[in-house]
Amino acid sequence: MSVGAGSARIAIVGLGPRSLGALEALVTHLAQVECRVTVDVFEPSDAPGAGPNFHPEESPLCLLNIPFRDIAIRPPAFSRCGSFAQWFAKRTGQQADPDSFPPRADLGRYLQARLDDLLDEAQGAITIISEKVTRIERSGAGWQVHAGDQPRALYDEVLLTPGQPETAADDQLAEWQDHASRSQGQLAQAYPAAQLARRACDWAGRTVAIRGLGLSTFDVLRVLTCGQGGSFDAQGYHPSGREPAAIYPLSLNGHSPFPKPATEALDARFDLQPSEMDRFSQAMAQAAVADPDTARAAINAVLKPVVTRILTDCGAAVPDGAVADWLQAEWTDAGSQEKDLSPIDTLRTGMALADGSRAPTIGYTVGQVWRKAQDALRAGYNPVETPAETAQALVGFDEGLKRYSYGPPLSAARELMALIHSGIVNMDLAVDPEFTMTDSGWTLETHGNTARVSIMIDAVLPAPDLSAIATAPVSTLAENDVLTPQAHGLAARTLPDGQVLDEQGRIVSQLCLLGRLALGSVIAVDSLHDCFGKSSERWAKGVRARQGLNN
Ligand SMILES: Cc1cc2nc3c(=O)[nH]c(=O)nc-3n(C[C@H](O)[C@H](O)[C@H](O)COP(=O)(O)OP(=O)(O)OC[C@H]3O[C@@H](n4cnc5c(N)ncnc54)[C@H](O)[C@@H]3O)c2cc1C
Repeated sequence: MSVGAGSARIAIVGLGPRSLGALEALVTHLAQVECRVTVDVFEPSDAPGAGPNFHPEESPLCLLNIPFRDIAIRPPAFSRCGSFAQWFAKRTGQQADPDSFPPRADLGRYLQARLDDLLDEAQGAITIISEKVTRIERSGAGWQVHAGDQPRALYDEVLLTPGQPETAADDQLAEWQDHASRSQGQLAQAYPAAQLARRACDWAGRTVAIRGLGLSTFDVLRVLTCGQGGSFDAQGYHPSGREPAAIYPLSLNGHSPFPKPATEALDARFDLQPSEMDRFSQAMAQAAVADPDTARAAINAVLKPVVTRILTDCGAAVPDGAVADWLQAEWTDAGSQEKDLSPIDTLRTGMALADGSRAPTIGYTVGQVWRKAQDALRAGYNPVETPAETAQALVGFDEGLKRYSYGPPLSAARELMALIHSGIVNMDLAVDPEFTMTDSGWTLETHGNTARVSIMIDAVLPAPDLSAIATAPVSTLAENDVLTPQAHGLAARTLPDGQVLDEQGRIVSQLCLLGRLALGSVIAVDSLHDCFGKSSERWAKGVRARQGLNN
């Protein structure tokens, strides 16, 4: 890859992990050919390569949801960084504990080291421009990109990798924002967590609620406790006196996600045998192009025997038809099988499943198998165009199973339990409480329990709904029907190599999109592994073909 007269010019919007993965693939693909490409990457933040979720300055209390042993984002051949574990060992002088979940900020530093290697390898062909892109518009055969106070030169093509751009507040949040501006109640965002930690310095003795009970809630809890000087050990939580007096996490069902198996040996119980993985891959490839009923049947047919085999190997009783019934309920109404579990029972059960003191349940086993089959899921789904209704069914199934497959470390669940025992976290109002707005904040109420809270923290990640994106250029591209949703509840239509499709299914030439805003066209996007996976390679190959760079 080299710079020179007659180079193809590419603009990339955003330089988070996805863009880094795409650029690594592009440089690798173009290495063998003498071709001329220049890439301008627009990224206004101070964390190019890492993005906001792995920002090197983010609080070290925010942990990755993958243990060291499972982080598989292999660097390209030209990189000198080695694997994340190798890089970590070199940097700290310590071997990484394979069962530990590292801080996301450490991973961000590693990604930035990979970016440095990439820029060296590209020898000036990649330029980072520290500006936010505000508009892109068609101009002749290419695209005009507007960033900063001036339009940039014309680009032959544009790749959008903006992650999850700012989204309009949902009705509840909009009402709370308005309320917080007119009352003493404070509304805070979970991220950046470093900023939340600074605000939380003033919250000693106050009563706080957290909207959402997903992975982000564990980050928030750590910030409100350890971040204020408290600590955990085997005896429980040791307060510093600077944390809030009471914390109320809440969500629609009050359930926290189920922690991952605690050790490699426990995790290995859920491994698919090679023949099972082959069958899963075939079933996924079949499901991705089928009608929804055929797709569900194909997935069920492959999951049932694997899940039954694992449960039997683990000594769990598997009544006839139980796995089929569980799957049926999951497809129809994800999570309905656990609806009778209280928040604390869910947490307790999850901890026992993760530490192996309790035999796996059907749900836990399906979720772990599904996690282990994520690459096969993407390999079957992402290279083809899936009918809209099937996409809704498969994406819904994958998203629902995240309560198992994207679980936190067991340590995070133990911390939550310790905080409950210490009386700082209270789960009495965790299940879909009523809210009343008061001068001092909010009153929460459910089943005769009430609490007055003065601080509300939003820890809900918005859906990748194109119509709700509030910032350009994605908002204007969606308003102008350049980006169109694949179906209700899904994000933009794209081809497997990221090329954007309009409402009629025609290619919007020279415009590509990778990542969360293409959910539905691709699946299982919310993972680092996907950022460095086959979608990036397909995009890079597409650039090479479109720009006639085959020699
Ligand atoms: C809180 C949180 C924690 C997560 N933790 C994990 C985890 O532990 N493990 C895991 O595998 N996955 C995790 N994920 C999923 C994660 O989103 C992806 O792994 C990854 O961050 C996606 O990378 P991305 O580059 O697509 O998006 P981002 O990382 O969001 O990067 C997008 C970049 O685009 C830039 N940008 C946006 N708009 C513009 C514009 N108009 N002009 C110029 N630049 C722009 C942004 O500044 C940003 O740097 C987490 C997600 C969240 C939200």
